[in-house]
Amino acid sequence: MTGQLIPDQAGAPAAESDVMVRAEQVHKSFGSLEVLKGVDLQVRAGEVCCLLGPSGSGKSTFLRCINHLEKINAGRIWVDGELIGYRQRGDKLYEMREKEVAAQRRAIGMVFQRFNLFPHKTALENVTEAPLLVRKEKRTEARDRAEALLERVGLSDKLHSYPSQLSGGQQQRVAIARALAMQPKLMLFDEPTSALDPELVGEVLDVMKDLARDGMTMIVVTHEIGFAREVGDSLVFMDGGVVVEQGSPREVIAAPKHDRTKAFLAKVL
Ligand code: ADP
Ligand code: MG
Repeated sequence: MTGQLIPDQAGAPAAESDVMVRAEQVHKSFGSLEVLKGVDLQVRAGEVCCLLGPSGSGKSTFLRCINHLEKINAGRIWVDGELIGYRQRGDKLYEMREKEVAAQRRAIGMVFQRFNLFPHKTALENVTEAPLLVRKEKRTEARDRAEALLERVGLSDKLHSYPSQLSGGQQQRVAIARALAMQPKLMLFDEPTSALDPELVGEVLDVMKDLARDGMTMIVVTHEIGFAREVGDSLVFMDGGVVVEQGSPREVIAAPKHDRTKAFLAKVL
């Protein structure tokens, strides 16, 4: 577990108060397949960063690296000034123990394309599960906050419904409430509306808009160009495991500079 040195020099930047995520030269391979080929990214606190790119470009892998669900082969990721997955001693980096990684992960909420709710638990129980087990919150406290969160995502009338009794959009809103219950400082969304029927997409995007207005820092992998333009503070276009282009969503969408960005936008617009 410990003692693994990653091949890169240490001693990189310290915390900057307004930077929530900083990724530098992130490399990730699966066997001989190099998926991330040096990704650099910076997301400020309170920023909504929309990550676009063709299928297979490494978007999901990159998100999973941010909370150390995937171990990077080289580079560095900091969240809120904390190096993810590694401790620095002298000029060497050592892999953290699983317990320490789990503590870092708790501060990062993640919402997937598939909602992954516990099928045999109600909406309310899905939301209170982690606060009770992981944060050891008092039952009344966890329930009060879960109710408030479910109300916030428009589901106060579904507290006692099971996932099978909810639409896809409702399930995804429970999943968002569940992530928020851990009081994360960063939310990662991986194509949160891609599995939904078209008429249910809006209600999930509305919840995400509300979160953005409230100042949550978010990285959102999405093909919803309208959302990126309206809600995004920045747009990052990835292709082939690197960031090809980034800028203000309006500018990139209206006038993409790179051919690969142009080709991609032409398909999704
Ligand atoms: P995106 O989310 O942009 O569609 P992914 O990050 O899911 O892209 O995948 C990028 C590439 O990495 C794909 O070629 C995919 O097959 C490969 N990949 C992703 N996860 C794994 C894994 N666990 N093992 C092997 N290959 C993987
Ligand atoms: Mg993906």
